[in-house]
Amino acid sequence: MKFINVAIDGPAGAGKSTISRKAAAELGYIYIDTGALYRTVGLNALRMGVDIQDDSAVISTLTDDLSVELRFIDGEQRMFLNGEDVSSDIRTPEASMAASRVSAVPKVRAYLFDLQKNLAKTNNCIMDGRDIGTVVLPDADVKIFLTASPEARAERRFKELQEKGINTPYEEVLADMIKRDYDDSHRAIAPLKQADDAILCDTSNIGLEESIRLIIDTIKGNI
Ligand code: C5P
Repeated sequence: MKFINVAIDGPAGAGKSTISRKAAAELGYIYIDTGALYRTVGLNALRMGVDIQDDSAVISTLTDDLSVELRFIDGEQRMFLNGEDVSSDIRTPEASMAASRVSAVPKVRAYLFDLQKNLAKTNNCIMDGRDIGTVVLPDADVKIFLTASPEARAERRFKELQEKGINTPYEEVLADMIKRDYDDSHRAIAPLKQADDAILCDTSNIGLEESIRLIIDTIKGNI
């Protein structure tokens, strides 16, 4: 049986996960958040106390005993590290930093490659990340590059932080966003870039509901 695969890539803060989750629920597909895999490998390296700046130390954590598992519980993706549910632990700022660092190590990307491929082979899915349309699923049925201007993304992140009572100045949030875009698109391996055959969806000037509609209509119109 042939399953439908949708690849959604884009920069941090474009709303990929929220939009992909909602679109997948409406279409009856599973939603796979690949960032969570890198976060789990990053968390494991932190827990093992290795120097995550050192590629060979990071590689040394990818032992035969290591188990990075993705399970769906009530339709939601949960991450298990060596059998323990770490779905919340991978969301801390430390785990984000570690994910970003380990994701630049080619052996880590290779380690997670088959897991992503196999999920796509056996499910109708929307998979989001940075290199899904370019590297992981180059033959995806629909590829979307979801973006928004750095200012629009920073504005959204700024509001989210304020709602959590975190008062980081807007200029700082914007500067972080621009730096992360730069790092993600200039790394040597699997840099963030729009696949040649991806459809560009820019949500700078539209709200969340309209963005979800746009993505669902784009998927439906292209499968
Ligand atoms: O999407 P999220 O912020 O959870 O991703 C965490 C980190 O994993 C990011 O910093 C990104 O660089 C990396 N990542 C990646 N390739 C993917 C998904 C995420 O390199 N497909």
